[in-house]
Amino acid sequence: MNIVVCIKQVPDSDKVTIDRETNRLNRAGVPSIINPFDENALEMALQLKEKHGGQITVVTMGPPQAEEALRSALAVGADKAILISDRKFGGADTWATSYTITLALKKLEEPADIILFGKQAIDGDTAQVGPGVAHFYGVPIITLIREIEVSDTSFKVKQVTDTGFNLWEIDRPAAFTVVKEANELRMPSLKKKLAAKKAEIPTWGVEDLGAEMEKIGLSGSPTKVNKVFAPPIKMNKEVLDGEPAEMVNVLLHKLRERKVL
Ligand SMILES: Cc1cc2nc3c(=O)[nH]c(=O)nc-3n(C[C@H](O)[C@H](O)[C@H](O)COP(=O)(O)OP(=O)(O)OC[C@H]3O[C@@H](n4cnc5c(N)ncnc54)[C@H](O)[C@@H]3O)c2cc1C
Repeated sequence: MNIVVCIKQVPDSDKVTIDRETNRLNRAGVPSIINPFDENALEMALQLKEKHGGQITVVTMGPPQAEEALRSALAVGADKAILISDRKFGGADTWATSYTITLALKKLEEPADIILFGKQAIDGDTAQVGPGVAHFYGVPIITLIREIEVSDTSFKVKQVTDTGFNLWEIDRPAAFTVVKEANELRMPSLKKKLAAKKAEIPTWGVEDLGAEMEKIGLSGSPTKVNKVFAPPIKMNKEVLDGEPAEMVNVLLHKLRERKVL
């Protein structure tokens, strides 16, 4: 089974600032990690491989340093890694990111049987890239899954909902986004860690992917950020005074008036 896991390198802190001129994130100098939800997708891939065999390819699109995230994935047991990186991909929105990642998936030697994503990235937070890639790649997607069973022709999955879960059966190939409750990523072994350090990681740019210029990067992104701002915090504060018992009565009255009680 060919398992592809899309992972994103994200800033490891809340120290990220926003460039007020361009409305883009200033990521320089901020330590990075694998997006925590992508660790769950990766662990799901490792467990699927242990049970059903096959190989795991991890793919990321990002600046050259995103290679570190790929090496971390190799260190826990992924077989191959691909870095999608080119200055011309910079400034991509989720549509352009999904288009570009899909070109890389289509360039892999073997087509994917299953494509796994984290449920969302902790920096961009849109949860759009999984469904975007599934659309461009031409496979169905089920989001927010925590368990998966594989048969020759289909996948049976448990999808988490607000009130419980849904059980779905879906034809192969398919894509899924994975929730945190699914599992916990294993620790790397020393042997794999050393091998990961030396692994050859191909970098694919615009020309390797045959990307259409009007569909990539900032200029190929149909959405534009007009303004970035912190929402104003509205506080309708009211201070009660008087005797405690009297204040409690007034408070109860006000809460009932607002249908809080
Ligand atoms: C309107 C708009 C404008 C933007 N402009 C810029 C900009 O100018 N500069 C900039 O740097 N960013 C920009 N971004 C952010 C950029 O589009 C996102 O970082 C990127 O598309 C991923 O989206 P996300 O972070 O919401 O990921 P989500 O959709 O929340 O991620 C879901 C899952 O998809 C996979 N995934 C996501 N991103 C990648 C990736 N890069 N490689 C591999 N797998 C991935 C992971 O499995 C992840 O868990 C913009 C976003 C929007 C919405």
